[in-house]
Amino acid sequence: MSIETISLSGRKKEVSDKKMTFWESLYLVAIVKGLFITIRHLFTRKVTVKYPEQVRERSTVYRGQHLLKRDEQGRENCTACGLCALSCPAEAITMTAAERKPEEKHLYREEKYASVYEINMLRCIFCGLCEEACPKDAIYLTESKVLVPSMYERESFIFGKDKLVMPLTQAMQNAQLNNAN
Ligand code: SF4
Ligand code: SF4
Repeated sequence: MSIETISLSGRKKEVSDKKMTFWESLYLVAIVKGLFITIRHLFTRKVTVKYPEQVRERSTVYRGQHLLKRDEQGRENCTACGLCALSCPAEAITMTAAERKPEEKHLYREEKYASVYEINMLRCIFCGLCEEACPKDAIYLTESKVLVPSMYERESFIFGKDKLVMPLTQAMQNAQLNNAN
């Protein structure tokens, strides 16, 4: 098979340089053909959606923004072991470990906790490996509909504990629900 006859799309056409007839030079047939293609597309099923007004149904394995969990007493679960950071293929997680003081027992479940915990959302690929690696049930990828809002500054995409840790009210509500069940 010669290189000239190969056509990956199967729609290859030989271009001729023969002189056009009068009717061909008016391009009427070509214009009508083009219009017909446009009109045909008006009636075909649209594959795009008007996001954000319209949101597609999410997959059952959808993973949204991370959440650092608290236990039923409202204490942070994370013990800053670093396994999530180690397992992250995008190297998106960084943290600083600190030792819990006796008066902080009501804040952190373990003796060691993450005083700083950051995820670079520009790097994260939402693979969920951090969740898989965590031995303390501390990090989850939620079903949050807002993944990461658009922002102008790169620094804004570094999500710290203020954005990641589960709100205390939510932890209390979860505890109440668990007690009720
Ligand atoms: S979801 Fe994946 S890429 Fe994102 S922080 Fe977790 S391990 Fe890293
Ligand atoms: S989130 Fe889990 S894996 Fe990551 S540092 Fe905290 S306890 Fe360790």
